[in-house]
Amino acid sequence: MKTLGQFPSAGSGQVFGGCYVSELLIPVLTEVETAFLHYKDDPAFQQELHDLLRDFAGRPTPITEVKHLSKEIGCTVILKREDLLHGGAHKTNNVLGQALLAKRMGKTALIAETGAGQHGVATAMAGALFNIPTKIFMGAKDIERQHTNVQRMKLFGSEVIAVSSGSESLKDAINDALRYWTAHSKETYYVFGTVAGPHPFPSLVAHFQRVIGDEARAQCLTQYGKLPHTVCACVGGGSNAIGIFKAFIDDTDVELVGVEPAGEGIETGKHGVALGMGRPGSLHGSYSYCLQDEDGQILEAHSISAGLDYPGVGPEHSFLKDSKRARYVSVTDDEAVAAFLMLTKKEGIIPALESSHAIAAAKKIGSSLKKDDILLINLSGRGDKDIDHVQRYLQSHTSIPSI
Ligand SMILES: *Cc1c(COP(=O)(O)O)cnc(C)c1O
Repeated sequence: MKTLGQFPSAGSGQVFGGCYVSELLIPVLTEVETAFLHYKDDPAFQQELHDLLRDFAGRPTPITEVKHLSKEIGCTVILKREDLLHGGAHKTNNVLGQALLAKRMGKTALIAETGAGQHGVATAMAGALFNIPTKIFMGAKDIERQHTNVQRMKLFGSEVIAVSSGSESLKDAINDALRYWTAHSKETYYVFGTVAGPHPFPSLVAHFQRVIGDEARAQCLTQYGKLPHTVCACVGGGSNAIGIFKAFIDDTDVELVGVEPAGEGIETGKHGVALGMGRPGSLHGSYSYCLQDEDGQILEAHSISAGLDYPGVGPEHSFLKDSKRARYVSVTDDEAVAAFLMLTKKEGIIPALESSHAIAAAKKIGSSLKKDDILLINLSGRGDKDIDHVQRYLQSHTSIPSI
């Protein structure tokens, strides 16, 4: 393996990332790395991906200045509208890039893991578009909980494989997908869902998501004549955050803030604050911050938003945290729901519960900004999928704070 997947931290001296998997997977991961390094700079590949993102997915997505929230906070709040992307979230950028890579590699089948079903649906959509047989690995418990997403995957023509090992959720779905891949790597490509997992996935997924930040940076310069003061995004595995951060990493005056799910509250232990409360350790083939007990057993994450419910985080975020290039805060389920309601009522935009975490954090991180300072928030997805969930939450939680 080359050093592309290593994120040495200036802060702690730790090297995050890597490729800690069974020997049997190394050849196919190397094959993916080689193809990725070749095609990412190949003009024909770039053109085909660009056309797909424009004509199928609807890029570029706009940026929107939200007036009510700007007035409330006292700075200029701008949303990057990934909620308007086909499929309803940023995940489409990643699956189109990887499906195209799979096609170029001559692979004739796709597999993917999914927890809540959002990455499964996105991959199933790409499978339908490219006419490639697709299998989605999903925990048996998650299949029960996420019925409509399972229906969607099947309508797209994918096979949904129930995983009944371990806790029957995302962690086990990833393990089973990796195991299946080991046995079928000749014809199969594994579409990984976020900037975690073994190298080269963290670098590869970040590459396909950086279109978010590249567009937003250019849009800020064209429409406002300057760069944002602060860029903010929610962090599950970390792909939408890395996607928007990447374009600003060398703009050292631009502050980068990631928002993790504090769930029912950090003191309750029921949260998903991997960077804020976790320790570096090994999870799904890479070394990164993750939630674990004293013996190194991985703990379950808790969040109202299924998409942030992951006990780890991508290695590049671990690097950005330790090197202090980015900082990470957290917001609770209550705060995220309050932000969901506020954005819907006051701005006419229904945000995904995941993205609502970034909205909720705006008040905390934007209060020191001046009126003309831009706070750029990545609105990673739309919230239609969350309406029933929020209604049920409101029935059992009567004291949602107002934002
Ligand atoms: C899946 C998802 C996330 C979390 O994943 P990241 O890899 O952290 O971006 C965030 N927002 C939405 C809308 C999602 O669907």
